[in-house]
Amino acid sequence: MSARRAGVPVRSDLAERSGYHSPQVDVEVRLNTNESPFAPPDSWRAELAEEIGRIEFNRYPDRDATALRRTVGASHGVGADQVFCANGSNEVLQSLFLAYGGPGRRVALFEPTYALHRHIAEVTNTDVVHGWRQRDFRLDLDEVEAVLAESEPVITFLCSPNNPTGGAEPAEVVRRVLDLAPGLVVVDEAYGQFAPTSALDLRAERVEGSERLVVIRTFSKTWSMAACRLGYLVAEADVVQACTMVALPYHLDAVTQAAGRLALRHQDEMHRRVAVVVEERGRLTAGLADLPVEAWPSDANFILFRPTRRDASQVWQDLLSQSVLVRDCTTWPGVEGCLRVTVGTPEENTRFLDALRRALEPA
Ligand SMILES: *Cc1c(COP(=O)(O)O)cnc(C)c1O
Repeated sequence: MSARRAGVPVRSDLAERSGYHSPQVDVEVRLNTNESPFAPPDSWRAELAEEIGRIEFNRYPDRDATALRRTVGASHGVGADQVFCANGSNEVLQSLFLAYGGPGRRVALFEPTYALHRHIAEVTNTDVVHGWRQRDFRLDLDEVEAVLAESEPVITFLCSPNNPTGGAEPAEVVRRVLDLAPGLVVVDEAYGQFAPTSALDLRAERVEGSERLVVIRTFSKTWSMAACRLGYLVAEADVVQACTMVALPYHLDAVTQAAGRLALRHQDEMHRRVAVVVEERGRLTAGLADLPVEAWPSDANFILFRPTRRDASQVWQDLLSQSVLVRDCTTWPGVEGCLRVTVGTPEENTRFLDALRRALEPA
C-alpha cells in the first residue's frame, strides 16, 4: 500500500524540529544512554509480580499516587505534600514548564547541558535564555549573574551532575544561584546518587531561598528502572500543587506506582550498585588517561571525552563496528568533537577500552 500523509500543517514553531532521540541500535555493548548496566534485584521483581496480581485492572489507579509519594518523601525526610511523581523526570520537567513557563515567560540554562531542558521549553513555547559554562565546564558565576539579571527568568535550570559533561555543582554554587535567581531554581539530579553532594541538603537545612529550590530525581539510572518511566520532584507544596494541576488525570499507572514504591525497600542493593559503578568509573578514567583523548572528571555514571588525534565521528563509527555503542556528541554545542561513554559492567568497560584503543590507533 502506498504511504499517505494527512498533510495538515503542524504548529509553525514545531515544523523545523526533529525531536530528541538517541539511536536504538542492536549492539553487544550498549553504553550510550546512561542506564544502569545491572538488572534490578530479583526480590523486587518477585514482589512486583505479586503486587501486579492484586491490581484491580478495571479501575483507574490512585490519581494522587499517595502511597508512592509518601514512600518517596519518607526516603528524603519530607512529607508526601512535597513530592510530585510522573512518567520519568522528563514528564516532571514538562509539568514545570506547563505550570510556570509558556508564552511570554522565560527560563535560563547554562550550556552545554541536558538538551531536553531546552527541547521541552521550546515545545511548550517558553523562551529560553542561556549562558555558557567555563572551558572546564564549571558554572561561571559572573556569567550566571549577568544572564539572570538581564533576563529575570521564572525558572533557572541547573543539572548536577551535569549531562553530558559529568561534574556536580558544589553546594556553595547552588546557594549562590539561589541568591541570584529571581524565580524557581530547578536542579536536575538524575545522577544525584553518584555525586558527593545534593541540593536536597540545602532544602533540608532550609538555607536562604531554598523554598524556591526544586530538586528532580529519576528511577531511570541508579534504580535500574528505565523501562518503568518514573521520576519525581521534591519542592514546596505549592509547586507540587501547580504540577498536579497541569498533569493529565491518572497519568501515573498502577504498575509504575507499585514498582517505585517497592523499589524503595531495596535501598541497600541500590547503594551497592552505585558503589560498583563508581569504582568502575575510576577504572575507566584511569584507562582513558593512558589514551590519546582529553577526558573530564565525572561525578556521574558516564564520562565525556575527546579524541585528540583522530576525528571523533570516525572513532564513534569504529567503536560501532566493534559492536560498542557510545553517545555521539560531536555536533552538540559546546562539546564539539566529544563522545560520552556510560559506565557499564566490568566486562563491558574492558571491551570498550580495548575497542577504543584499537579505534585510536593510527590508520
Ligand atoms: C537520563 C536523564 C534524565 C532521565 O529522564 P527520565 O525521563 O527520568 O528517564 C533526566 N535528566 C537528565 C539530566 C538525564 O540525563
